[in-house]
Amino acid sequence: MIKSNILDIQKTIEKCAKTFNRNPIDINLIAVSKRQSPEAIQSALDAGHRLYGENKVQEAITHWTNHRANLPDLKLHLIGPLQTNKAGDAVRLFDVIETIDRPKLIKAIAKEAIKQNKPIECYIQVNTGEEPQKSGILPNGLPALIECAKDEGLNITGLMCIPPTDEPAAIHFAFMEKIAKNYNLLNLSMGMSSDFKKAIPLGATHIRIGTAIFSTRN
Ligand SMILES: *Cc1c(COP(=O)(O)O)cnc(C)c1O
Repeated sequence: MIKSNILDIQKTIEKCAKTFNRNPIDINLIAVSKRQSPEAIQSALDAGHRLYGENKVQEAITHWTNHRANLPDLKLHLIGPLQTNKAGDAVRLFDVIETIDRPKLIKAIAKEAIKQNKPIECYIQVNTGEEPQKSGILPNGLPALIECAKDEGLNITGLMCIPPTDEPAAIHFAFMEKIAKNYNLLNLSMGMSSDFKKAIPLGATHIRIGTAIFSTRN
């Protein structure tokens, strides 16, 4: 049951936060609704959940355009790679774009934000495992990318990562916590169904949960 899954995870977040001396309010549960049916999404909405993540712009438009018009408190995060030719659609639909990883994308989003008169919050995705197939900026490219965002007037408020599957996630989360502090970035999007309990003691402010809420994906 989607509703009880959401409640269970929220309870786990609360318990885990207390154990590590954190305020549970600072840990936001992003329900990852990619490849879910309209019915599954409706169940999560009926349970009162309002924060969702999607990894593809086109699919997100299909999932959320109608809900967007009816739910003023809905919040949507883009958590998948973004092509510059979709920057306009992404700025229009999302509240936060978590996957900034190159100057060209920063420029495209900044331009759209001005054109649409829609200030948009962005996080930088960091490829902490330095995996060639994964998107995200390599850690040593982060200072220049932050500088570029500043020059373009893009509002970077956090960092996001997806750790390698074959390494302990906690090492990557700890690294993220450190660099977020260094750059004074308040938001840290890290932790998924399998590892969010490890992300909470290391400062996660947003955990992205798909399967633990919706069970399977199509
Ligand atoms: C799909 C996805 C998730 C959710 O993963 P689960 O293992 O289903 O919780 C989280 N983050 C990103 C970037 C994803 O693409």
